[in-house]
Amino acid sequence: MSSNGSNLSENFLPSQYKSDSEMEIQHNYLSSQFSEYKEIMKLIEIVVLKNDFTLGEAVDEFEKRFAFLHQSQYGVGVGSGTDAIFLSLKALGIGPGDEVITPPFTFFATVGAIATTGATPVFVDVDVDGFNISMDLLEAAITSNTRAIVPVHWAGRLCDMRILGEIATRYGLKVVEDACHAVNATRDGVYAGSYSDAACFSFHPLKNLNVWGDGGIILTDSKELSNRLKLLRNHGLVNRNECHEFAYNSRLDTIQAVIANYMLDKIHFITDARVKNSKYFDSFLRNIPQIQIHTRRKSIKEVYHLYSILCEERDELYNFLRSKGIDAKIHYPVPLHLQPAAKHLGYKPGDFPNTERISKKVLSLPVHEFVSTPQLDFMIEKIREFYGI
Ligand SMILES: *Cc1c(COP(=O)(O)O)cnc(C)c1O
Repeated sequence: MSSNGSNLSENFLPSQYKSDSEMEIQHNYLSSQFSEYKEIMKLIEIVVLKNDFTLGEAVDEFEKRFAFLHQSQYGVGVGSGTDAIFLSLKALGIGPGDEVITPPFTFFATVGAIATTGATPVFVDVDVDGFNISMDLLEAAITSNTRAIVPVHWAGRLCDMRILGEIATRYGLKVVEDACHAVNATRDGVYAGSYSDAACFSFHPLKNLNVWGDGGIILTDSKELSNRLKLLRNHGLVNRNECHEFAYNSRLDTIQAVIANYMLDKIHFITDARVKNSKYFDSFLRNIPQIQIHTRRKSIKEVYHLYSILCEERDELYNFLRSKGIDAKIHYPVPLHLQPAAKHLGYKPGDFPNTERISKKVLSLPVHEFVSTPQLDFMIEKIREFYGI
């Protein structure tokens, strides 16, 4: 069942976890996904033969197609999801002295992107149901120094951007969405980027739309912002000999754009498989009293970058599942406000009770497109066995 057999897997990503179980279910599925890698090699060969190595056709094509999929006007391909957030904030004029509101329950990069602009990250707790920044707590955190909000669509479940956008407009704040988990996700029929200045996506190998290294994109409906971002990602150059501002080098790599285009053809299949597997889990796990799953809403198309549950005796369950060959994961055990990197911000345990509770109880199970129904059944069976039901 595991993907350890192929050479590709050995070359690219050695199995991180071995067990004696008959059924190994990994979070990492790249060798299955890229079993047809020779097809992609042929597409890369075209780039090599054309010497089209920076920006170029593949990047243009991907930007257009990705923006179109998300009903956005402009796409600007950049080096990573982190750079997408960082450059968006820079382009909107965020810097030292500014406060930027974001949740403490996220991946490090959200806060890293804010902090490296020179701005101060200000945390607002998340809701236990959905793990997204709490709309009820947002306004109380706004001060005269607040300049922007960076909401995170955790696991690919969009925040209520209509409400967030209204609050931001009322206070004159910029909004940059961390949509790194939210490729192809919608809420009330609209995609990330609909109620904000910019939405930022990542194509890291373990994101829903993944490339062979790093990559990211910013979507925006503002021509002005997209033009500024195109300058910032490419040394501030308007042409070969004219520099409008001293800036960065963070282009979406052309070869990665080839892979991104290839994967974009599969995004509906990938999304549908994740949704189907997650619904299957829901229907069984919902009946286990020790497990709490999110309230699912028809108005929200979640794309399940992670399938995360809250569970009693989390650490014991985690160890038990891993001993059975199931690659359960904890995203993430230590919230951002309690990280050594956040020490200077002065937060302490107890400041964000929902986030802290989630960090202690959250567990992710694999739901990617290569997880089969027998594997789902096996995982459900082992969870039942653990709780003795
Ligand atoms: C992956 C991720 C990022 C950063 O993306 P990179 O492409 O790895 O830089 C930012 N925010 C969240 C929530 C992520 O999961």
